[in-house]
Amino acid sequence: MRTETHLAELAPRDRSVARPRRLRAHGAIRDAIADASVDPARLALPVFALDGDGREEPIASLPGHARLGPDRLVERLAPLVDAGLRSVMVFGVPDDKHDDARTLTAEDGPAQKALHALREAFGDRLLLMADVCLCPHTTHGHCGVPVTDASTGRVRIDGDAALPLLSAGAVSLARAGADWVAPSDMMDGRVAAVRTALDDAGHRDTAILSYTAKFASAHYGPFREAAGSAPAFGDRRTYQMDPRGVRDALRSARLDETAGADMLLVKPGLPYLDVLSALHDRTDLPLAAYHVSGEYAMVHAAAERGWVDARAVYEEQLVALRRAGADLVLTYAALDILSEDI
Ligand SMILES: [Zn+2]
Repeated sequence: MRTETHLAELAPRDRSVARPRRLRAHGAIRDAIADASVDPARLALPVFALDGDGREEPIASLPGHARLGPDRLVERLAPLVDAGLRSVMVFGVPDDKHDDARTLTAEDGPAQKALHALREAFGDRLLLMADVCLCPHTTHGHCGVPVTDASTGRVRIDGDAALPLLSAGAVSLARAGADWVAPSDMMDGRVAAVRTALDDAGHRDTAILSYTAKFASAHYGPFREAAGSAPAFGDRRTYQMDPRGVRDALRSARLDETAGADMLLVKPGLPYLDVLSALHDRTDLPLAAYHVSGEYAMVHAAAERGWVDARAVYEEQLVALRRAGADLVLTYAALDILSEDI
């Protein structure tokens, strides 16, 4: 009351004081001028594909999510697609691991079978993305090829040796129907290698979503359970980015763009909004952000204790990623956002 009296007494020119609250007055006003929104078309759901119909294995650390055989995957996605889901990222989870990554490169790998089933069921209603990496497919669980130095006995991860396997995997996934292949390995030179292999195999229209800025993060725990991709020894810091650096991400974005990437991805999401924003300022390529398993699971765990409202937190987190520059957000929370509409 005191403020109103005070303003009423002001001279007319002073009464033109700006009142930002006018634009917050009710929902329709706020919706009309929002900088970003969580449109389901801007969300992509990561899914884990098993080999074999009828199979379903819940993922304890990603509540509500499961590894699924092709038929179960179609069943689970059908209501989500009806509710507006437009994109999925398919991760193949093989039963047996081989160091030649044959389940990545074979025509009948688990991701390939899932892609065939999804395309048959949903046609062009779904954008199909497929992960390209060695770690879920090999016994060593690294994204490149471990090589032991004969003189020192030390193991290093050879990126160049991984390129033919990654390229063959990308071609196989494109042949199975992936619209986009997504190399997530972080080996130098893989975007150019994958682009060349796709073109040579006649897949000129298959796009590359490059994991340009994938940080060596502590937020990936639940994913490693889901995909069975934890490294058998060591860690991934010689190829994933140091969380303390942003210039590495900017440099990699320039290299990926030159090498032919169609879209760039930042992973994880929320701890790296500055990276996303910096890339948004510097590239004209579309950007994706991966709101990762740890980000999802932490909110879910807190919600189970009654400490937060999971859906409200997810919506706020996803809009933050969109606001920072993500055109598309890969998120397990797509399930929670869309399920309310089912
Ligand atoms: Zn990997």
